[in-house]
Amino acid sequence: MTREQQLEEDLSMARRAILELVPEIYAEILSAYPDESVKHAYDWLREVVEAILDRIEETLDPHEKIVLVQAPYDPDLLLRPFRPSRLPCPLCRRKPQTVGAIGFAFPDGLRRHLLGDYNATMCPVTNAAKELCNERLHSEFRFIGRRRD
Ligand SMILES: [Zn+2]
Repeated sequence: MTREQQLEEDLSMARRAILELVPEIYAEILSAYPDESVKHAYDWLREVVEAILDRIEETLDPHEKIVLVQAPYDPDLLLRPFRPSRLPCPLCRRKPQTVGAIGFAFPDGLRRHLLGDYNATMCPVTNAAKELCNERLHSEFRFIGRRRD
């Protein structure tokens, strides 16, 4: 094994280790093998991120999820659902770098962080998952690896 191959293998192991550190409900989604139709890791990641956002939505405490906001001047007409809008990344626990920010706007700000879109600093966890997907897409043993898992 060349030094370069050794480094690639070490990097791959580090990426797998990152995915093992996240809560199981997300690790399962992040470790999914790309199916045969997937050509680019980013396309795979977009689907994975939507599944993660759905999972977060499901796990939000229902009391936190919807709070009825009552307008003082018309209590009946203006009872409307309100969603707490910010949360830290559940994968890497980061918050936006803005001073005083308590979390990413859910779901759009968090989606940007998870995808690294619009110049957002990409989540190191989804980045590791994307690179693992890339490894799998470019591995000549792709389907053998899939059966082994
Ligand atoms: Zn993150």
